[in-house]
Amino acid sequence: MPMFVDTSLPGQCIFCRLVAGEIPAATVYEDALTIAFMDIGQVNPGHVLVATKRHAATLLDVTPEEAGAVMQTAQRVARAVQAVFDPPGLTLLQANGREGDQTVFHFHMHVVPRHEGDGIALSWPRKEPLASVLQGYAAQLRGALESSAPAPLQ
Ligand SMILES: [Zn+2]
Repeated sequence: MPMFVDTSLPGQCIFCRLVAGEIPAATVYEDALTIAFMDIGQVNPGHVLVATKRHAATLLDVTPEEAGAVMQTAQRVARAVQAVFDPPGLTLLQANGREGDQTVFHFHMHVVPRHEGDGIALSWPRKEPLASVLQGYAAQLRGALESSAPAPLQ
């Protein structure tokens, strides 16, 4: 994963400065809630980042409307990437927290065109717990979902 980590305060982070036009950016698309741009850290031609315009650090900090808007912009950008670069594969990556490999603490999603042997890797060590353990986890999550208020309709 990239070594660059932006530890700026909210409102001063590199993506907030980009949204404010304070630093130059190769902007691809923007609307009321999102901005899509190319980053110098791109791993394949056509790699685009989609960020919320408002500063929010992680998935848990964006509104349901912002979360939906980022995915809609990512899909629009993916269609454009497919039309221009025609990659055989495409990966969406959205990281939260230092341990989740987030490096800029302003919510964003990577739209990454993929090619065979492009060197991008995410190790995935399967643990294969017992079915009863999975049922226990699922029951805990159902309980948490039932006790939380539904997301407000936008
Ligand atoms: Zn920010």
